[in-house]
Amino acid sequence: MSRGILLYAQITKSGYVHPVFFELASKAQELSKKLNNEPIIALIMTTKGNTEKFKEGFQKFGIDKVYALENERFENYISDYYITSAVNVIKQIDPSVILIGATCEGRDFAPGISTALHTGLTADCIELDINEKGQLAATRPTFGGQLMATILSKKTPQMATVRPNVFKPLEEDVVKDTEFVYPEVNLDGIEERVKILNFIKGIENERNKLLDAKIIIAGGMGMKNAKGFEMLEDAAKVIGAEVGATRAAVEAGIAKRNMQIGQTGVTVTPKIYIACGISGAIQHIVGMENSDKIFAVNIDKNAPIFEHCDCGIVGDVFEVLPEMVEFLKKINENI
Ligand SMILES: Cc1cc2nc3c(=O)[nH]c(=O)nc-3n(C[C@H](O)[C@H](O)[C@H](O)COP(=O)(O)OP(=O)(O)OC[C@H]3O[C@@H](n4cnc5c(N)ncnc54)[C@H](O)[C@@H]3O)c2cc1C
Repeated sequence: MSRGILLYAQITKSGYVHPVFFELASKAQELSKKLNNEPIIALIMTTKGNTEKFKEGFQKFGIDKVYALENERFENYISDYYITSAVNVIKQIDPSVILIGATCEGRDFAPGISTALHTGLTADCIELDINEKGQLAATRPTFGGQLMATILSKKTPQMATVRPNVFKPLEEDVVKDTEFVYPEVNLDGIEERVKILNFIKGIENERNKLLDAKIIIAGGMGMKNAKGFEMLEDAAKVIGAEVGATRAAVEAGIAKRNMQIGQTGVTVTPKIYIACGISGAIQHIVGMENSDKIFAVNIDKNAPIFEHCDCGIVGDVFEVLPEMVEFLKKINENI
């Protein structure tokens, strides 16, 4: 019988385990308890000897067993090598659940695996749970984000991808006596169809500052124009925040694309999220609802954002914001 929650530990170009792995490891602790303590297993694919430097991380993040596939051809992600090797080892492990970060690499890797294993894949989940029958209940937006669908898989392994920043990493170490196994990797007969010539680091590849921000002040169409966003930038400087935006503001050209938060933007989890002139459409909410404390300023008392915030202020953002900044300036040192 299939058993175990398998997590893919992606190694980034900068040579570290992608943070989404630790977020999944945190969620996996909860899922494992609901699955009669099924083991949490990590799969890492890297060059020879490289697993060694990540050992402590696996031990502290509650991983029971690590399958380390090491080969010089794993220096760069190449679908054919990665998917074929992973599928071979996954067949031996026979896990009940596989979770993969919805990174650029994960979005290629996960469907490749599910196709080869003839199983389903629920992509871009925003919540994972185990139902009363012990099945993975994977929730994701559907119908353009108008509805949330909880999807069950008819087959095992039950696979899901989750975007970075949806779950929070463990706050305290869960130290385990992790077992490391190094299965043999045989890439013979896999045709070399892709050759990586060079990596060019573009602006898009730089880590978005919103992902690590402790305070985010985000604006929507209620900020009216670029001048309104300048006001947010000024406020952000004072309180040490990053500025985010809704898709409507981005499309109106009053905010930059890399500021977009939500279903088609980034997912953020700051300690404080201040929504200014944002209506609270579900596509925006899914990208910020896991913030610790949410403040909202909106002139319309019926705006849906008020259903999702800890503190809501009905008022004109151009009057409320300056006063709010003064207040936050005072408590900033304690955050
Ligand atoms: C497939 C799909 C994906 C999407 N992805 C995203 C996404 O990733 N992120 C995202 O944000 N959206 C996304 N959207 C768009 C989303 O549905 C909404 O249209 C968008 O979030 C609305 O942005 P908004 O709140 O800025 O604008 P509006 O809905 O126009 O709201 C503006 C708000 O400002 C308030 N306001 C006006 N003047 C003031 C004032 N002076 N003071 C205070 N408040 C004021 C108004 O009362 C109103 O509530 C997506 C939509 C689809 C279909």
